[in-house]
Amino acid sequence: MDNCIFCKIVRGELPSKKAYEDEEVLAFHDIRPIAPVHLLLIPKAHVDSLAHCDGTHQAILGRMLLLAPRLAREHGLDGGFRTMINTGRDGGQEVFHLHLHVFGGGERIPKI
Ligand code: AMP
Ligand code: ZN
Repeated sequence: MDNCIFCKIVRGELPSKKAYEDEEVLAFHDIRPIAPVHLLLIPKAHVDSLAHCDGTHQAILGRMLLLAPRLAREHGLDGGFRTMINTGRDGGQEVFHLHLHVFGGGERIPKI
């Protein structure tokens, strides 16, 4: 995806503050954090959103979810954290490359 900003981050064409990387997943700090720790976990292979995933994405979705508590722990979120996936325009998604928000720290996040 030539013009996708997260694909550009994967390719190293845009800078990011990386928190984790393996052959399939990249995690980096959100550029506009809403909490003291705010990470974005993405599959390296482009997929627009959770609504565009199918059975072929089962393993990568599992990897991303299982990575969340590990990175949260590594970033000191011992008291817990929140995960969020915005999907589609009405779901508040702004960047159309699937990403899992992991954030927390500071004040307890209000319950939704
Ligand atoms: P969403 O609204 O779920 O699509 O979230 C997109 C997120 O990507 C927002 O929290 C933005 O702050 C974040 N973001 C956009 N561009 C960048 C970037 N170049 N590096 C890091 N985070 C970004
Ligand atoms: Zn992309």
